[in-house]
Amino acid sequence: MLIVMKKNATPEQIGAVVKAIESNGYTARPIPGGDRVSIGVLYNKGAVDHHRFSGLAGVKEVIPVTKPYKLVSREFQAEDTVVRAGDVSVGGEKLCIMAGPCAVESELQALTIAEHVKRAGAQIFRGGAFKPRTSPYSFQGLGEEGLKILAKVRDVTGMPVVTEVLDLGNFDAVEEYADMVQIGTRNMQNFSLLRRAGQSRRPVILKRGMSATVEEWLMAAEYILEGGNTQVILCERGIRTFVTHSRNTLDISAVPVVRRESHLPIIVDPSHAAGYRDQVISLARAAVAADAHGLMVEVHHDPDHAMSDGAQSLYPEQFETLCRHVRAIFEVMGQGSEVRGQG
Ligand code: PEP
Ligand code: MN
Repeated sequence: MLIVMKKNATPEQIGAVVKAIESNGYTARPIPGGDRVSIGVLYNKGAVDHHRFSGLAGVKEVIPVTKPYKLVSREFQAEDTVVRAGDVSVGGEKLCIMAGPCAVESELQALTIAEHVKRAGAQIFRGGAFKPRTSPYSFQGLGEEGLKILAKVRDVTGMPVVTEVLDLGNFDAVEEYADMVQIGTRNMQNFSLLRRAGQSRRPVILKRGMSATVEEWLMAAEYILEGGNTQVILCERGIRTFVTHSRNTLDISAVPVVRRESHLPIIVDPSHAAGYRDQVISLARAAVAADAHGLMVEVHHDPDHAMSDGAQSLYPEQFETLCRHVRAIFEVMGQGSEVRGQG
C-alpha cells in the first residue's frame, strides 16, 4: 500500500502517518517525490485496511499496491530513477553505453580496449576480474590484480568502471576499486549477495537470471532496495530457450515490460544474449529501438586470443559501427514528433 500525502503536508503530519503505520505493526518507508511525499507500507501480510490511514491529516490518497514487488514498482515511484557513477548517468535523457572485454587479462589489454571503446563513444568501461566460469579449468579472472587494473583504466581514461562481484568474500574489494558493482545472471537469486548489495554505497547492475521471470528479477532487485540502496540498474542479457543458433534468446519484450512495471533503468547486454559476434549489432539496435536506457557490450582488440567470450566480442571497428547506429536510432526516437512533423 502507498499513502500519498498532500503537497502541503507538514513534517508533523508525515510523522503522524509513519507512526500510525508502525503502530499497526507494519514498516513505513517515506519516499520523497517531486512535489509531494509518499509513504510506502511494507511487511504487511495480506491486504491493509485503507480506512485506517485515509482519514489522517495531510493524506491525499491511499493506493493499494497489487504487485509483490513494492519499492521497485512504478506504483511506489512514478518518476524514473537515474543512476549515477561519476558524471555518467543511466536512466536519464541520454543513452549510456558500457563496453570492454569479458575479462581483464592484463594492463595493456585493458588500456588498449578502453582507448578504443572510449573513442567510439562508450561512457563506462566493463571488465571482469572475478569470472563465473562453467568449467573450473577455464580462466577464472585476475582477481584483485584485475581490480587494480580497472582502477588504472579509470585513472587514465576518466571512464567509471564496472565489474562483477562473485561472492560475499570479494564484495568489499570490488566496492573499493569499482564505480559500479555487477551481479551476474548466475547470482541473481543469491540472496545474501543481494542483501550485501543493499548495503553498498555503489550502484549495482543486476543481470537477469538466465531462467528468471521478470517478476523474479524485480523481486531480486527489491532485496537491494529494501536494504537501502536505490541505485540499481536492471540488465536483460538473454534467457535460456530451446534454440541453438544463439547462446541465449534476447527477451526484447522484457524491456517495455520492465519500463512499465519499474522506475529502475534497464539496459541490454546483446553480447551474452547472442554468443556470436555477427548477431550483436542487430540485437543492440533492437534493444535501443525497444527503449533500453543503455547497453553493455563486450569488445576485444584480439578476440581470437581472448581468455573468455572471444566469439561474442566485437572488434573495435564493429563497436564503432554499433555506437553510430544506436545513437542514430536513439536520436530519431527522441525527436519522434519533429521527424513526423517534417514528413
Ligand atoms: C559478464 O558480463 O561477463 C557475464 C558473465 O555476464 P552474465 O552474468 O550475463 O553471464
Ligand atoms: Mn562474458
